[in-house]
Amino acid sequence: MFDRSPGTGWHLAVFLGIVILATSVPASFATTSAYGYIAPIPPPSVESNVTPAVRPAAVPTATPTTVPTATPTAVPRLADIHPNELGKIMILEYHVIGDQELRWTRTRESFRRDLEYLYRNGYYLIGLNDLLDNRVRVPAGKTPVVITFDDSNRSQFQFVVGADGSLKTDPTSGLGILEDFSAPHPDFGRSAVFCVLPGADPPNDLFGQPAYRQQKLQYLAREGYEICNHTLWHANLRQIGEKDIPRQIALANKAIQQAVPGYQVNTFNPPSGVYPKNVSLLVDGTFEGTSYHHRAILEVGAGPMTAPNHRKTDFLHMPRIQAIQTELDLWFRYFKQHPEERYVSDGNPDKIVFPAKLLDDYQPSQGAQEEPSPDSTYKVVRLR
Ligand SMILES: [Zn+2]
Repeated sequence: MFDRSPGTGWHLAVFLGIVILATSVPASFATTSAYGYIAPIPPPSVESNVTPAVRPAAVPTATPTTVPTATPTAVPRLADIHPNELGKIMILEYHVIGDQELRWTRTRESFRRDLEYLYRNGYYLIGLNDLLDNRVRVPAGKTPVVITFDDSNRSQFQFVVGADGSLKTDPTSGLGILEDFSAPHPDFGRSAVFCVLPGADPPNDLFGQPAYRQQKLQYLAREGYEICNHTLWHANLRQIGEKDIPRQIALANKAIQQAVPGYQVNTFNPPSGVYPKNVSLLVDGTFEGTSYHHRAILEVGAGPMTAPNHRKTDFLHMPRIQAIQTELDLWFRYFKQHPEERYVSDGNPDKIVFPAKLLDDYQPSQGAQEEPSPDSTYKVVRLR
């Protein structure tokens, strides 16, 4: 999978440059929140509306007296970061985390290895809400990646009772493995999306520990993970009939909101990727006083998604990559060989920067404004 055929030499060199740069961002450029999120911030003495990622090192600013002369070398140039915020993003789709590799099971070791691979290759964990909000909070030079867990299986999130009687994430469950990996790697982020089935049979009934159903949803919301609606009990939305679709979705939403009052579920995941003919039923609906409104709908399989500002992006059809060995091998290798297709962050969630040659793929957001670029081979757009 680490193909080094002659034609890929240039790409590898660029790619390695990104990795080296991404792993060498000085500590003064980053801040860590309680959720492990690392946001690039300007060095203290640089104007607050100019980020290190897009600020040209050599161009004088309008207020030269406030700019220290000692910092320019610490400011990465666009050509060093290779930002491409019209590039592709992988949304990985996991099901059971277990002992044996099966069609719907990823072993613990494989899952840990996936995380290690993503980290070592310049990826950074985010949730879907950042994509929906077009506010991708990823350090400069890194590529966002989303992990989704389908079906609320117990193996994904198990609590164990600690010596002091408190509930702890079981380190052998999917979430425990992720948290154990992210804790010593704050430059990897910490995020995941859980697509839950509140009315399924065990062990898929909101993670298979009935006593902790609500506490688990509360934990996910509190710790900054995302909860996604996967229907009440994995109903096939073409088989149950249109009138039952709002019921399946609204009752699942009701169970989520009973545990986490006011939680806004933004993402819906139709079981087995089956969309009903009338897709609008997945977006808005009400049943017995419980309403839902989704901004995104997840597909099964297919491939990476395009960036929020790519003209082809359709949040109601968000493709994913199934986390099975053959698919992961395929896409990990693909992006090794085509690093120029990866989404690479400029480090500023309020701007997007992309190679000027991709302008035809750019779909402007409302209110977005192009800014002068310090490098004519890149376009810089302020989003807000
Ligand atoms: Zn499912």
